[in-house]
Amino acid sequence: MISSRAAVLHRPGEPLRIETITVAPPGPGEALVEIAASGLCHTDTTAFDGGNPSCVYPAVLGHEGAGRVMEVGPEVTGLRAGDHVIPLYGPECGSCRMCLSGRTNLCWTIKDTRDRGVMPGGTSRFRLGDQTVHHFMGTSTFSQYTVLPEIALARIRSDAPLDSVCLLGCAATTGAGAALEDVRNGDSVAVFGLGGVGVNVVQGARIAGAKRIIGVDTVAAKRPLAERLGMTDFVDASAVDDIVGAVHELSGGGVDAAFECTGIVPVMRQAVDSLIAGWGTCVLLGVEPSGAQLSFPPVLARYGRTIKGSYFGGVKGRSGLGRFVDLYLDGVLDIDSQITHRAPLADINTGFDRMGRGEGIRTVISFD
Ligand SMILES: [Zn+2]
Ligand SMILES: [Zn+2]
Repeated sequence: MISSRAAVLHRPGEPLRIETITVAPPGPGEALVEIAASGLCHTDTTAFDGGNPSCVYPAVLGHEGAGRVMEVGPEVTGLRAGDHVIPLYGPECGSCRMCLSGRTNLCWTIKDTRDRGVMPGGTSRFRLGDQTVHHFMGTSTFSQYTVLPEIALARIRSDAPLDSVCLLGCAATTGAGAALEDVRNGDSVAVFGLGGVGVNVVQGARIAGAKRIIGVDTVAAKRPLAERLGMTDFVDASAVDDIVGAVHELSGGGVDAAFECTGIVPVMRQAVDSLIAGWGTCVLLGVEPSGAQLSFPPVLARYGRTIKGSYFGGVKGRSGLGRFVDLYLDGVLDIDSQITHRAPLADINTGFDRMGRGEGIRTVISFD
């Protein structure tokens, strides 16, 4: 049992509270990880108002972290103390039907317990006094010490700065991975929403060799960073009436690939309508409100357009994340210019307030 400072969400509608919780030793197949840094991501905020059915209160939030293994439990074979790791909300067991399919990075072997806020054995490792505190997304990176299953930890090279590569735990990989999968050299690309995921789609498209990268957003202040990462054209959605028409004009009749990063259903439809016939591909990344439906005329698909989704950029966490760490250390993938604010854990609520006002791109909190 060790003590750990952690940001705990006790119930919906309250701010996070900094508490000293206790963390139990790792069980079979688990590891204790000291988190060095964690990004604040929009998905954490879905738990604030009770809108995330997979958040069981009280909970330690956070899912975009990086740290070091402190101790491993019985039956752990691929990790040892001192290893640098990125926690994965999507694990990679390597042996289930999904992992063996070669067709997806999804692995749902521990989804059921993860979505109930407990470890695969059915219990939590966190306590506050005599109260159980739950895990969130299986990661809980807003605690200095956290426990994860081995299959949900990507070991990374130890020369990567943890307070930068933590963004590979969510936004950077989700955006860049999705673009690298669906953008070809010479393509025209549209990116709807230039937040934490969208700016990484922009740079993934640039890395893939896109010749035209059109960003669409209602906030013109997001333009400079997107341009720095590779955006060639900007459509100000707060000023332009016919957004689809503008994208068609800039791309000479429709884009080869469109990426939707807002989760707003009418924007998803704009992304579909922006595609060129024959081969245009729309990739949905933003998470829609629960129960939402997307509709479009079947002819759009019959004439060769593809509408698909992507989870964590299509990247298998344990076997695929190392490539992105390499891209960062080689100076190809720019993570640091997205980190607009750094703060200690104690200021975490200020960071989320800033996100709510749409200021900056990423806040990274640290425990040092
Ligand atoms: Zn996230
Ligand atoms: Zn699996």
